[in-house]
Amino acid sequence: MSFESFGLHPSIMDGVAALKYVKPTPIQLQSIPPVMQGRDLIGLAQTGTGKTAAFALPVLQRLLNGPRGRIRALIISPTRELAEQIGEAINALGQRTGLKSLPIYGGVSMVHQVQRLRAGVEIVVACPGRLLDHVWKGTIDLSQVEVLIIDEADRMFDMGFMPDVRNILRCLEKPRQTLLFSATMPDDIRRLARDILKDPVTVQIGHTAPAKTVSHALYPVKQHRKTSLLIELLRDIEADSVLVFTRTKHRAERVAQQLKQAGYRATSLQGNLSQPRRQAALNGFRSGLYKVLVATDVAARGIDILSISHVVNYDMPETIDGYTHRIGRTGRVEKNGDALTLVTSADAAMVQAIERVLKATLERRTLKGFDYALPVADNSGRHPSHPQRQQRRRPVYRKRIGKN
Ligand code: AMP
Repeated sequence: MSFESFGLHPSIMDGVAALKYVKPTPIQLQSIPPVMQGRDLIGLAQTGTGKTAAFALPVLQRLLNGPRGRIRALIISPTRELAEQIGEAINALGQRTGLKSLPIYGGVSMVHQVQRLRAGVEIVVACPGRLLDHVWKGTIDLSQVEVLIIDEADRMFDMGFMPDVRNILRCLEKPRQTLLFSATMPDDIRRLARDILKDPVTVQIGHTAPAKTVSHALYPVKQHRKTSLLIELLRDIEADSVLVFTRTKHRAERVAQQLKQAGYRATSLQGNLSQPRRQAALNGFRSGLYKVLVATDVAARGIDILSISHVVNYDMPETIDGYTHRIGRTGRVEKNGDALTLVTSADAAMVQAIERVLKATLERRTLKGFDYALPVADNSGRHPSHPQRQQRRRPVYRKRIGKN
């Protein structure tokens, strides 16, 4: 089945062609027809499945007719990065429609947002907190919203945004069409869906198991040898574009710093960065300026970078869904990716749980020539074949060891 069969307006089809989408993805095939008919929808799909276009295309189609200059579609996103990405996708797909979208999130000045709102937009893509700031200041009018999309609802819940989302729902006056997307369906999301959706169609893609295009491998290692192993692994895999996940902001910062010292074009993405610096890190990773991005889960949520070749879990995620979300960053639409996880003995239970979900035993790998047994006291990352380089790195490890 092709995009032509949906009956989208030619101006929207121009956007589809501009993005070089040839075949709809499964979630698009299943979601676009009912959404075009005005049905409410639950989309169980993770990032990387094409879910943005699955809601953006029918929304653009709906807004083509009717009044301009007032907010008629509201998309709620858990993070700024995701809001930016959705905004960009809508702008690209809707480039010939004359419809205007505006991302709204915190960490940047409100004044510019207010000016854009006054000038008139039809689509707002917003993070809950800043959206409510506008509501309370009276700088946004949501009374004309006819389509509401809640994206990554489970993430929104994890991040504690559900009360904000419920407050936003109270500001919407019109009978509306509501679409809710989530990678997983915990009870709270199920309850929210029951409260706000009318007779929804449910579309489920890929269940919660990680993408099939990804190959998974575990690298058992002691905690204090992780960074040295990561450095050697990066050398070994000659990856184009690697997303490394750490558990804490400080560790993301520190690992990125250590990779830089080892000669990698690396940067970090974590909550301590100002908005311009986050954007610079993301843009630099997208453009290939940085080959390695070290991020925390929250910071990396929803990142859509098609060319990510490897995801490395420097720290094991705390939940299976966390694993699914991280791994969803690689192996996107018809691309193969690799997921490498550094595991310590403390991660045994989580490994078992992931293997149960994947219904497979994950391959345990060891890196040839790497000194796994080096004790903490001499954590120099010394490698027999690179004595000089290793000597330069030694003070860094000494200084930082034991923190975090
Ligand atoms: P999403 O799941 O919405 O974050 O989309 C993941 C990536 O797939 C984005 O880079 C989209 O531009 C891309 N994409 C979405 N739909 C298609 C399609 N039908 N064909 C090829 N790429 C697509």
